[in-house]
Formats: sequence, C-alpha cells, structure tokens
Amino acid sequence: MSSPPFLAPRDDLRALEGYHSPQVDVAVRLNTNESPYPPPPAFLDEWIAALRDVRYHRYPDRAARQLRTALGARLAQPPQRIFCANGSNEVLQTLLLTYGGQGRAAAMFEPTYALHAHISRITGTSVVEGERGSDFVVDPDAAAALIARERPAVTFLCSPNNPTGTVEPRATVEALVDRVAGQGGLLVVDEAYGEFADWSAVELVDESRPLAVVRTYSKVWSMAAVRLGFCVAPEWMVAELEKVVLPYHLSAPTQLAGTLALAHNDEMDDRVARLRSERERVAAALAAVERVTPYPSGANFVLFRFDGDGHELWEALLARGVLVRDFSRWPRLAECLRVTIGTPEENDAFLAALCEVVTEVQG
Ligand SMILES: *Cc1c(COP(=O)(O)O)cnc(C)c1O
Repeated sequence: MSSPPFLAPRDDLRALEGYHSPQVDVAVRLNTNESPYPPPPAFLDEWIAALRDVRYHRYPDRAARQLRTALGARLAQPPQRIFCANGSNEVLQTLLLTYGGQGRAAAMFEPTYALHAHISRITGTSVVEGERGSDFVVDPDAAAALIARERPAVTFLCSPNNPTGTVEPRATVEALVDRVAGQGGLLVVDEAYGEFADWSAVELVDESRPLAVVRTYSKVWSMAAVRLGFCVAPEWMVAELEKVVLPYHLSAPTQLAGTLALAHNDEMDDRVARLRSERERVAAALAAVERVTPYPSGANFVLFRFDGDGHELWEALLARGVLVRDFSRWPRLAECLRVTIGTPEENDAFLAALCEVVTEVQG
C-alpha cells in the first residue's frame, strides 16, 4: 500500500539529517558536555519560591529586562548589548534568520559544532567549510583568504571548539573580526564553553565591531534542562535580533531562573575551577594510556585519538557502562572519541574502563 501524497518538506531540506547524539541510559554518562553537578539547592529553593509570584495569566517581559541587567552586571556590559533566547541554539538560529538566508553564506572551520552548519541550512543559508590545521587551530591567514574569497555574511568561530577543545588566541579573533568588518560580514564566536578557557571574546564586544559572542546556561550553570542562552553583541545588532525572534519567546520561569542563578556566581566559579583541574588530571591520565593521544582542551571535555578502531573502543566502553561521544567515523576525526569531564568518581570509572579495554581492541 502506498502512502498518500502528503506534502514533502522544502526541496533544500530533503538531504538534511536530524541531530544525533544517542541518549543511552548507563551508569556513567560523559557524552553531552553537561555539568555533572545539579544546580545549587539554594538556587532551586529561591527559584521555586519566586515561581509562586509569577502572574501567569500575563505574557512575560518581552525585553527580559531583569535578566539582561543581571547578565550585564556579571559581564561588565550594558543590558542593551545582551540578547537572550531558549538555549544558545536559538540565539544561533536568530542570528542566521536575521543575517543569513537565501543568497547568503555562513562560513565555519571544520571539524566544529555540527549545529552551525545544520541551522545554517535550515535557514536557507549556504555553508562554506574552512579547514582547521592538524592541531585543530584555525590558521588566521587561511581563514582570511577564505573570507575574502567566499564573502560569507556570517562567519562562525567556536572557541573553545566543540568537539576538539581548541581555544583560539585573541589575535585570531581580532584579525577575523577586522576581516569580516572590511567586507560587511559578521563574526559569531560561540563560547558555549567560554567559562572554562583563559580568555573571552566578550571583552572585544563594542559598538564598532560586527561581533556577537554566544554563551549558554547549559554547561557551567548546570541548567541544560531550562534552555537558556544569550549573546553579547553591539546594541544595533541586538535591536535587529529582537525584531526577528518570536515575541514572548522567553518564558517567565526561564527569565527568573537565569536571573536568580547569577546570585550564585561564587559556587559556579568554584565548579569551573574543579572541572578545570579534573580536566587536566584526565588529560594527563589519557596521555599515559598506550595508543591514546589527547588533544589540548580549554573546555569541560577532552578529545582523544585512538591508534586502533575507535568505534570498537566506544562500544567496549559502553559495555562497561561508560558512555562517551563517538566521533570515530566523522570526517577529519577518524578514531576520535570525546569524553566530558564528570565528577572525580565518574572520571575514575572512565579511566579504569579505558585502561581495561584498550588492550582488548585491535589496532
Ligand atoms: C552545547 C553547545 C551549545 C549549547 O546549546 P544550548 O542550546 O545552549 O544548550 C552551543 N554551542 C556549542 C558549541 C555547544 O557545544
């Protein structure tokens, strides 16, 4: 029996695949770069108490004034330079709906966060792929040449880069923003893991640069389930994004969560410090494992290459109750796996399982 001729999706979406990151139920889940710690209990108490006072029969504050003011204070930026949305993915989508689209291109440096290309295509923006070097660092001259040749409307730079952990130096970001400015483009620095790195492009944001720095509550702030992200960008850019995003897209509970969480800065900074020191411990331990080579990371995860069949290694870890992210069949990431930094106990469980299985999996 053939199915009735239902309407097919847009022609340019036919070849698109969905976002795949298997959510398997195992003891040690180190595959999606979330925080291993739940939010601070005091924050949850304050949030739940505040939820009682929301006027639910009214729309939320469209301008998210309290949240943007609190974020501005934390980041030493005026609230007018902050745009909030339901996860940084919605920020990326809004940037592309505003500045991408038919007849325009977005450039990115592979291997990088798959959603940059995916959301570009969904918004009808064509994709231009630049290449990272063998150490996964972006070569500023090659990047400048690509931008000069392709003239992308939007250029993405993910730093620290997912999935490699690579942090770009300030000089590269400055050079790229000057380059895109020279030809009417826009630079988007995705700093989903910015808190784990040694410097942030937020300090470069001002009215004279076409630069947006995107951040999220999903990782450091232990709030992946809340769905809240934002970007810091010039006021003129934020004003355009506000025109494009759906009105009242950010619910009152979300706005409250984002505002109240910022009062727990000290606890969050403490978690960042703990995860950074665990990252260094895990990276050093990985470097000591035979046939395993970790890459330097400024994020809350470590990418490593296996001298053998990476997918078999991933399966062997899973069989021992440890889920990491399998990049072994990705272009440019052959035999690579990525492990999220968890609690010290989770990291120990991962390292113990890895030491056991590396000898079993053939080269
Ligand atoms: C996790 C991640 C995000 C976060 O997406 P949210 O929608 O904020 O949860 C954005 N960019 C990169 C590079 C990421 O790894």
